[in-house]
Amino acid sequence: MKVLVINCGSSSVKYQLMDTEDEAVLAKGLVERIGFEDAIFTHAPANGQKVKLTLPVKNHSIAIKHVLAGLVGENGVLGSLSEIGAVGHRFVNGGPDLIQPVVANDQVLEKLRSILDIAPLHNPAHLLGIEACISAMPDTPQVIVFDTFFHAKMPAKAFMYALPRHYYEKYGLRRYGFHGTSHYYVSHKAAEIIGRPVEDLKIITCHLGNGASIDAVKNGWAVDTSMGFTPLEGLVMGSRTGDIDCAAPLYIMKKEGLSPEEMDSIMNKKSGVLGITGISPDMREIEQAAEEGNELAELALDMYSYRIKKYIGSYAAVLGGLDVLVFTAGVGENSPIIRERACADMEFLGIEIDPEKNPVAFRKSTPTEIGKDSARVRVLVIPTNEELVIAREAERLGSTA
Ligand code: ADP
Repeated sequence: MKVLVINCGSSSVKYQLMDTEDEAVLAKGLVERIGFEDAIFTHAPANGQKVKLTLPVKNHSIAIKHVLAGLVGENGVLGSLSEIGAVGHRFVNGGPDLIQPVVANDQVLEKLRSILDIAPLHNPAHLLGIEACISAMPDTPQVIVFDTFFHAKMPAKAFMYALPRHYYEKYGLRRYGFHGTSHYYVSHKAAEIIGRPVEDLKIITCHLGNGASIDAVKNGWAVDTSMGFTPLEGLVMGSRTGDIDCAAPLYIMKKEGLSPEEMDSIMNKKSGVLGITGISPDMREIEQAAEEGNELAELALDMYSYRIKKYIGSYAAVLGGLDVLVFTAGVGENSPIIRERACADMEFLGIEIDPEKNPVAFRKSTPTEIGKDSARVRVLVIPTNEELVIAREAERLGSTA
């Protein structure tokens, strides 16, 4: 089946057209700077010329129109839109009731509209994308895949917060976990690579991108995750704090007279390695600055990898052992330094990185093993493929819709 995978951000739409039969990507691209006169539309057909256009794109609905026109137009890969069997949409958080993938209908859309503020940076944009696709392709099943789905089986002791219980009952305030499609993909891929059933393995997956999270995986499902009610909790990230004392932002708000929105923006957009260094949220620039002797960049690398190490240690305890450790996403796939520091002095847990293999696993599109042959834990770098997970779910649910 040909499946269009859509990932709408607040000012962007990323897309991939996939053939689920052979998992080939037929075309991919993105619309950036939605809302501006000089938005950028990039369309890359697998076997054709990449096109980059600057044009006004007022809203997500217009952006989706450009995407669909690109798929059937001059540089298109489809004769007609009716060849698309289903559309798969990424949705960050569907709240407590919408966790497993679902086909969009009036009831589902109404529910989604009621939980937009649970993930204000992501959910409203996702919904705009779904609505735009429904109006452009009313007869095609629109399947929604939630980032939270892989965390649906976490036990209450892992997902509850020690807050008064009525906040959970009233607002669904609990740990949801994100990057579920990525953690699912790489943990199951790791089992496939080492040739053992995923149900028999204790796996820790480190998704280190702009946002970053770690999962403890047992019996093929996450049993704990570092992100929480929002994608702010857990690891030190590009521009997000990760775990901090919750009293700290309250103190800053009082001292500087900040509103909740202002504090939220500081914690999400101005903290993390950007906040520590004042240089950039991008790990490449931090590594470069550290190499040139910048002490704050060196501190950021240390803080970033130390937090990962702490989670690996605690999740090994949660799992009662460890068979496989996986690194994925922009930093996880491309930064030997972070992998080396996060895994340093972990021989007691059976984790031993091979210093010759680790630097080689860099910008590779294939999975690579970086642990020592003699080590108890297998350490793998696996390029993630969230679009494939969404496409497979869209095919599964779309073919019965
Ligand atoms: P997203 O979370 O937006 O999907 P990615 O998983 O693509 O992002 O990760 C993007 C981040 O990966 C960049 O911001 C950068 O910090 C990091 N990154 C990409 N390439 C490298 C590299 N060669 N070395 C270190 N970090 C890298």
